[in-house]
Amino acid sequence: MCGQEKQDRYHTNRQRMLDWDLAGRDITDPRVLAVMAEVPREEFVTDSYRPQVYSDGPLPIGMGQTISQPYIVALMTQELRVDRKCEVLEIGTGSGFQTAVLSRLAKKVYTIERFGELAESAQAVLGRLGVSNVEFHIGDGSCGWPASKLPPSGCFDRIMVTATAPSIPKPLVSQLVDGGLIVVPVGCGGSQRLMRCEKKAGKLDEKRICDVRFVKLLGKHGFEQ
Ligand code: SAH
Repeated sequence: MCGQEKQDRYHTNRQRMLDWDLAGRDITDPRVLAVMAEVPREEFVTDSYRPQVYSDGPLPIGMGQTISQPYIVALMTQELRVDRKCEVLEIGTGSGFQTAVLSRLAKKVYTIERFGELAESAQAVLGRLGVSNVEFHIGDGSCGWPASKLPPSGCFDRIMVTATAPSIPKPLVSQLVDGGLIVVPVGCGGSQRLMRCEKKAGKLDEKRICDVRFVKLLGKHGFEQ
């Protein structure tokens, strides 16, 4: 297939994803739909997965990890209610696709990945796409963003975790501003639920969104293995 044919195929398949898998379900925020239409998911997977890149499923990205299903990326983004004033912490950079989506809505995104290889590849892709409001860190995101590099406010307006945790890591709750939102999958195996919690007077007000299936958040405040 020549370059133009590939672009046309991506365009058609992306439009089908937007109409059926996102707008056809419960993704109603026009800003989220616009961003999902703009970020080229094909740039975040290797050649062999590109033919199915606009199917609504996760795909392998190496190191035993996956790029999340487009519907889940859109749903989590919609639930996080990000705007241009928000500083967002993301745990689990992975391919960097969700990072790119958030970067188009937020003031700045701070993202942590435990695998150096994935973080570097994500950084390279975002660089090629001209994204300049993302800071990367390699390490254990269950411990939050390193204290020495926190933004001037000392905390985040929004936090998204893209790997499932045994319970909501305490360091993340501490780094969330009062009135801020965290979207995080909790639980293991076939029993995981996506939660959206608002921090109110230091406590989390929890709301269950739906059942999900994510890879594990491994680390000090995550799973041991
Ligand atoms: N949003 C990503 C999802 C990647 S899968 C995407 O769409 O591509 C979840 C990611 O979380 C994996 O890359 C995994 O390595 C990472 N991860 C798991 N535990 C982590 C931890 N404690 N700190 C940082 N990243 C972690």
